[in-house]
This record gives sequence, structure tokens and C-alpha cells, in this order.
Amino acid sequence: MKIEDFKSLKEIHEYFAVNNRCGLKKSATQPVYEITKPSSGIVFIGEAPGLNEDKQGKPFVGAAGKLLDELLSIVGYTRDDVYVTNVVKYRPPNNRDPLPEEKDACRVWLNAELLLIKPKVIIPLGKHALDRFIPGIKISFAHGQAYEHSTGIPIFAMYHPAVALYNPTLKSTLEKDFKILKDFLDGKVEIEKIEQSEETTLSKEKQSLVEDILNL
Ligand code: URA
Repeated sequence: MKIEDFKSLKEIHEYFAVNNRCGLKKSATQPVYEITKPSSGIVFIGEAPGLNEDKQGKPFVGAAGKLLDELLSIVGYTRDDVYVTNVVKYRPPNNRDPLPEEKDACRVWLNAELLLIKPKVIIPLGKHALDRFIPGIKISFAHGQAYEHSTGIPIFAMYHPAVALYNPTLKSTLEKDFKILKDFLDGKVEIEKIEQSEETTLSKEKQSLVEDILNL
């Protein structure tokens, strides 16, 4: 099956739920995904499902998801208007960080979703998703800004809502960043060019991850 041959998100998820070598598959209840293309063209990408997501098979249905819904109202959208997915489609045991090989195993799956949706903007939530698109950049530096990407799809960096659940300062940072996102969507904010400093220069291995997206 070629990545460009899929006709729907449902088809993509059903195919990759069978054809993937992610080690988390064994311990997780099920893969976590949604199947509706977003009318807004906005795609949020989280890290990996948690307990509630694992039970329900849907992304961001727990406490972080509730906060995401609240933040979305700042931009004038509801969850039905946007698409939410994760770098890794299976819950890591005890919500540990996904390992590099687990992220790699779900890489083509995410590429297929992006290829079908052709997003207007990609919003990585947190460092795992951000690193996928802008390797080496720090979330504490990048959040609240839109960056040019070689696919032509802007990448708007955001903190992960989970980090703000018990941290009021980060919650207000996220609220501010969603206001900037609204201005960006309204065409009022400039997009940043990525300086190819040493920190953001892509390693050969990372470059090949990016090249998959480049083929979108
Ligand atoms: N956190 C994530 O990164 N993804 C989810 O789906 C839920 C919580």
C-alpha cells in the first residue's frame, strides 16, 4: 500500500493498526485516533495517549483534553472543527515518554494522516511533536510562534496542555499563545524563518524523518 493511495482517515488507521511494529501495541488496549477531516484545516499533534484515551480509543479525552477544549474556544473553534492526533498511537506504560523507536514505528502512520488532510497549520503540542518537525529547537523558546517548514505548512509551536494542568503560570502562557494563534490564523502575525544554527541543524537521521514530510 502506497502512502498516497489511502482514501480516508478510517482506511489509514485500520491499515496501520495492523501494519505497524510499535512495541507499545502489546501493552495498550487499542490504538487511539479520530477519523474526521477537520473543516478548519488545523491539526494538533500530541505526544501519546494516556489512560482515558487508551480506554476510549480517542485522543485527548482526559484532563489535558478538557483544557485543550477550553483553549480552543479562544480561537473560536470546538473539537469538531479541528483534528487531534499523536506522535505515538498507543499508550506507553505508566504514561512514560515514548522511546525513539516507538516514535519511529508510528512515523509513517502520522505522515499518512498529514498527507490526506493537507493541513493549513500543524500545531505540535509539546517537545515530542515539535521535535518531529523542527528537530533540536527548544519548546521553551519556540512556543507561541509560527515557523516556516519545508512542506509549506506552517508549524505553530505550543506547550502540551498537560504541563499546564497543575501550573497556573504555564496555563496563562498557553492562553496567551492561543491568542497569538488566533492572530496568526487571522493573518496578523508574521511567520518565523528557522535559523540554521548549530542547535537546529538537522542530523542525517533526523533529516530523513523530515524528508517523509517533505514528500507531502
Ligand atoms: N496527551 C497526549 O499527548 N495525547 C493524548 O491523546 C492525551 C494526552
